[in-house]
Amino acid sequence: MTAEKRETRVFSGVGVGALCASGVLHFWKKQRREPPSYRGARAEKQAFSDALLRARERTAVLARRTEDAAGEDAAAIFEIHDMLLADADFSEGVQRKIDSGKTAAEAVEAVAEEMAAVFEAMADEYFAARAADMRDVGSRVVDELLGGGGELPDARVIIVADELTPSDTVAFDSDKVLGFVTFGGSVNSHTAILARALSIPALVRVGEIGEEYDGAEALLDAENGTLTLFPTPDMLLKFATAESARRAEEQRLRALISLPCVTRSGKKIGLFANIGGISGAEEAYRAGADGIGLFRSEFLFLGRDTLPSEEEQYQAYSRAARIMKDRDGPVVVRMLDAGSDKVVSALAGEKEENPALGVRGIRLLLSHPDVLRTQLRALCRASAHGKIAVMLPMVVSVKELLYVRGIFEAVRRELEGEGVPIAQRIPLGVMIETPAAAIMARELADEADFFSVGTNDLCQYTLAADRQNSALAYLSESEADLECVLRLIKNAADAIHSVGGGKWIGICGELAADTALTARFLECGADELSVSPPFLLKLKEKIRLTD
Ligand code: PEP
Ligand code: MG
Repeated sequence: MTAEKRETRVFSGVGVGALCASGVLHFWKKQRREPPSYRGARAEKQAFSDALLRARERTAVLARRTEDAAGEDAAAIFEIHDMLLADADFSEGVQRKIDSGKTAAEAVEAVAEEMAAVFEAMADEYFAARAADMRDVGSRVVDELLGGGGELPDARVIIVADELTPSDTVAFDSDKVLGFVTFGGSVNSHTAILARALSIPALVRVGEIGEEYDGAEALLDAENGTLTLFPTPDMLLKFATAESARRAEEQRLRALISLPCVTRSGKKIGLFANIGGISGAEEAYRAGADGIGLFRSEFLFLGRDTLPSEEEQYQAYSRAARIMKDRDGPVVVRMLDAGSDKVVSALAGEKEENPALGVRGIRLLLSHPDVLRTQLRALCRASAHGKIAVMLPMVVSVKELLYVRGIFEAVRRELEGEGVPIAQRIPLGVMIETPAAAIMARELADEADFFSVGTNDLCQYTLAADRQNSALAYLSESEADLECVLRLIKNAADAIHSVGGGKWIGICGELAADTALTARFLECGADELSVSPPFLLKLKEKIRLTD
């Protein structure tokens, strides 16, 4: 390598997990035999069905290997793969292509690609990521037909590839893999999920790196989303120091996973997670969350021109419910909270002068009853798979809650009439993120089953300070600045508890993760705190140290 090539260079990508690695790059490619020419429909179909059988056997082996290394949840990916391999549409599609003169390998590749394109067109990030699974199972069958795999050197390396499939990811000898870097991929892909589950640092969507860097020393920092080629000695030293401190801290916190989330005086506090989709639920589960305190369902609606169907929503909510099924707490799905800075194109209305005070949250849902009904139908159906609870955003009055409750009951009757299984009870809760809701908590508590404080909006509306405007951050910097918000929370908690009946209040805004405020929140009466998964154990530690 020339001196110029050995210069320190930094590439950016999307980091998966918060881990780092240091080592040499190894450019990995699948190696395949030359495909044989067409041997006639009968022989090709026979070759396909033999390969399909072997691919399914191999899937079962990969599932076992993943389960041993990363647990049952991570291995669930291969259940999906087996379903895709067993799908009659897949086999019939391949056979039709063989009849039209394609070899088994060409036919499998073409059908897998067509089916992947259908997933991709679904726009929802979770389903779009399933396109990669379809390609992966197709490629596994082609591997059986043409041979696959690619050797790794004897040393431990950071693997660089265009894209890696889940089967590639687990097929590598994990003792030899320091990290993964891919040019394509997404954070929701199963490869990313597996990398997280296996605690292997990964960086996806990195701009192309030339193959001349094969063997180059590199630092992979998944937390900051960077890959540094030819790091300086100073960088390496800093990395080693930070890395050993991080690992020690992680190890220390992991010991808390199995301990109960109780204060020193023995009060049980719900340790819940904020998530935006399925990978968040998996992460929350692994970190020992008692439940999901905020599933921001708007992530299913953003970044697309169409609305997610009832089926698409049902799949997402029911999967989260199944993941968390053995935990005590519910999966609280917040109904679509669009408007203001979260623009859902299919619902975008007139431009507003003050969108944060405009048609957002529950107001937007009430102006689109069809969207509200579809989401409630999906949630009712998902409730048969676990403990689903439904939460309304941006409530200011009891009448909004009563209106939704009426529709909720009608939707339940409608589904029961259709013979659809639904949980006996689906709690309906309210977000306290407006001063009005905090002040009217007593009246709301007569009608709602639970509450969760959205401190992000509650601070914005109480302090009349746009949450997006960093010039106003000084208004909510200290505990003293937040006294007005803390008093609203305390008054609301007292009012809610005075009603009895097990009604509870949690906190799910970003402040819930600020451990400097944990003691105050518990003093105010919070029964539950909900934070994004990486903060769960740190928060549990703080709660266990609080009186
Ligand atoms: C909040 O306002 O604190 C909250 C949790 O909702 P979001 O941040 O999604 O508006
Ligand atoms: Mg909010």
